[in-house]
Amino acid sequence: MTLTDQNIFDRLCIFMRETQLLQSTFSLLGWDERTGMPPEGAEYRGEQMTYLAGIIHRRRTDSQLGDWLERLIDSPLYSKPHSIEGTVIRESKRQFDRQRKLPESLVMELTRTSVQGQQDWQKARERNDFSIFMPSLKKIIHLKRQEADAIGFLECRYDALLDEYEPWETTARVKNILEDLRRELTPLLQQIAGASPVSQSHCLNKTFPIEKQKIIGREIAKTIGFDFQQGRLDTTVHPFCTELGPYDTRITTRYNEHFLPTSLFGILHEAGHAIYEQGLQKQWYGLPPGQTISLGIHESQSRIWENQIGRSRDFWTYYFPRLQNVFPKALHDVSFNAFYSAINTVTPSLIRVEADEVTYNLHILIRFELEQLLLDEHLSIADLPEAWNDKYESYLGIRPRTFTEGVLQDIHWSGGAFGYFPTYALGNLYSAQFFAKCESDLGDLSAQISAGHFDGFRHWLQEHIHQQGQCYSAGELVTLVTGEPLTHRYLVNYLRNKVSEIYAL
Ligand code: ZN
Repeated sequence: MTLTDQNIFDRLCIFMRETQLLQSTFSLLGWDERTGMPPEGAEYRGEQMTYLAGIIHRRRTDSQLGDWLERLIDSPLYSKPHSIEGTVIRESKRQFDRQRKLPESLVMELTRTSVQGQQDWQKARERNDFSIFMPSLKKIIHLKRQEADAIGFLECRYDALLDEYEPWETTARVKNILEDLRRELTPLLQQIAGASPVSQSHCLNKTFPIEKQKIIGREIAKTIGFDFQQGRLDTTVHPFCTELGPYDTRITTRYNEHFLPTSLFGILHEAGHAIYEQGLQKQWYGLPPGQTISLGIHESQSRIWENQIGRSRDFWTYYFPRLQNVFPKALHDVSFNAFYSAINTVTPSLIRVEADEVTYNLHILIRFELEQLLLDEHLSIADLPEAWNDKYESYLGIRPRTFTEGVLQDIHWSGGAFGYFPTYALGNLYSAQFFAKCESDLGDLSAQISAGHFDGFRHWLQEHIHQQGQCYSAGELVTLVTGEPLTHRYLVNYLRNKVSEIYAL
């Protein structure tokens, strides 16, 4: 029987959906590993995940898949690259080509080392002892260099690793845009340092019973549109979001009894990620038109809820009275302006996930620069903690006193995620640009949010971003939706406006 192009396309889709069954099972094991697994389960879990990763890798690099894609790329089905068929073919081919370059042994070794690395990192962090994590980190970086070399790159190893998280993006472009940002934000930071907020308050550091934080956190997630029939919220050391199926998206958070923003904005952030996953086209689950574009776009969806919405006057006009009801002891004598100013205070700090919006991108720049040095063998692992501290001193004017508040604060490197950090900064840039466009499209967004109506905003995101799947690259989508390529201007304007009001600059 001669197979038509359509027959082949259908077989490709079935094959990829089956691979997704394995991939989502792998994610489920990963979710469990990070939320509920007892410590001594780690070794066998490592074996399970390594074995599964091997099978998934074999399927993704199956020569049959390659043959199908070769034929489809020359077929009429690929005549419109942004159509559903075009997107399936283009993105499957891109992923196939990348995976094909990675030897199976390297993939399995990376998975094994990452599972061990995460366990070591957790132990090192608890004991504030970098030396516990050093051997794994050394191994991970060695393997990441091999990965970059296997994939190949035009300018630097970092390009090859960045591409996994932000397809089509380059180190040079990221460097430029982060430099643009730094150039604009440094004088703004200096201005802020010389001013004090219009209304000063330590209202966020009072006592906020964790049980009550859990109640309000769930409530906010639900109100903005996180669907609990298709998701869960749990507690972990390092918050994350993962999808385990078309109708199953998990988020986690952590609670600090004496610092409300940790869970409050953590949940808004992760719920934003989840709303993106929940807004995808379900019928294309496991195939590119039903998948998220890049981590930068993913991050834009979490930051837009956390910051543009969650730290806005409008949001708290609606939510502050409710928050006061939940925490009467801590907040009954706190004014709206004091609270609003407290959640938007700009002050250089050591922990990235708790950084304000202005200094946040400097935390990213530090990691971005250190990663390149490590990969290019210009910095040894033993010297890393000092190099980290030196950069904090030079960019933010403060120096970590412990490993836990310094180099051990992020989980990423322990899991082998090198090249990941810049996507956070890209997310901030995308979110500001999308938000400006949404405001102008909807006209009365501010009124909607202060009335507690989030559907209009969420639908706008769903229509313009979520439903597009991978039909466009991140850069193409930004241009398509906002009418211009990514620029630092929207983020800078947004920050400048907010900070000017709070600090009366
Ligand atoms: Zn995020």
